[in-house]
Amino acid sequence: GNYEDGGEWSNAQVVPYGPLSLDPAAAVFHYGQEIFEGIKAYRHSDGSVYTFRAEENARRLNQSARRLALPELPEELFVEALKQLVSIDERWVPNGEGEALYLRPFMIATEAYLGVRPAHQVKFLVIASPAGNYFGSPEPVDIWLSTKYARAGVGGTGFAKCGGNYAAAMMGQIEAEEHGCKQVIFKDPNRDDAIEELGGMNVFFVFGKENKIVTPELTGTILSGITRKSLLQLAKDRGLTVEERKFTLAEWKDAAASGDLTEVAACGTAAVVAPFGTLKAEDFEIPAVSEGFGEISKSLRDELVGIQTGAVEDPHGWLTKLV
Ligand code: PMP
Repeated sequence: GNYEDGGEWSNAQVVPYGPLSLDPAAAVFHYGQEIFEGIKAYRHSDGSVYTFRAEENARRLNQSARRLALPELPEELFVEALKQLVSIDERWVPNGEGEALYLRPFMIATEAYLGVRPAHQVKFLVIASPAGNYFGSPEPVDIWLSTKYARAGVGGTGFAKCGGNYAAAMMGQIEAEEHGCKQVIFKDPNRDDAIEELGGMNVFFVFGKENKIVTPELTGTILSGITRKSLLQLAKDRGLTVEERKFTLAEWKDAAASGDLTEVAACGTAAVVAPFGTLKAEDFEIPAVSEGFGEISKSLRDELVGIQTGAVEDPHGWLTKLV
């Protein structure tokens, strides 16, 4: 759909996948006015296709829109767009265990205008693509601690899901790969080395003996992950203590050394939950605190995937039926 300043969203249509035609002066190419979301849709055994907490994605898109000076999109239109796209040919959505359809809603500033100001013409689009099977227990992933690069700062766009944040994280990702790590984790050197998040996932820490989960709080420099929020809810439902707070590198080192820290894992829509292997940094390492998947992370993951795929009851009404 399109948006014109002072008007409303209009011209919604489903078209065959193919190149977009945009003016070379379109604002998105020059000033990065772009935001997006990532959602998975699963086919359940009743044949219907469901997404998980799509209204949360709609809400987060609007949070990002407000930060990037883009127009908000009514939540109903967001969900309707997903429904229309999937219903055109729902055979796209695989039937196999754990396989999903990945939906990528995004909004771009299309106005051709070279002055620096918010664009008056904007497009909202959704693309769909089959997603791989993330079932089974993922292998622990070695993580690189970036000390040279930050992906966000106070007052910046860290909480928004905008392309610029990912561009800012890419050199960290390259550095990670150069050190044999699959993922990079960022910290905030201005807040006592507070741990923030990975390039595309949140992080949480399990203190098994205390039945406690600690995760960095939402200060505005990290993305408010929907997987993070859901896992915290499931943890509370089980009576685990959940602390959203500052968690520093020093505390991580101490808790790993003392044995209090029993699991570290990343979480996000794509992999749901993935255990940490070794944390590698320029001049030190923190060895994995668990062998393979930690017990609590694994069981929270199984419950969440169970809800998403319809194998486990959905106690919080998190599923939205698309078709
Ligand atoms: N942080 C970042 C930077 C991300 O890109 C993602 C993936 N959207 C997440 C966290 C996890 O968010 P979610 O659980 O909503 O996928």
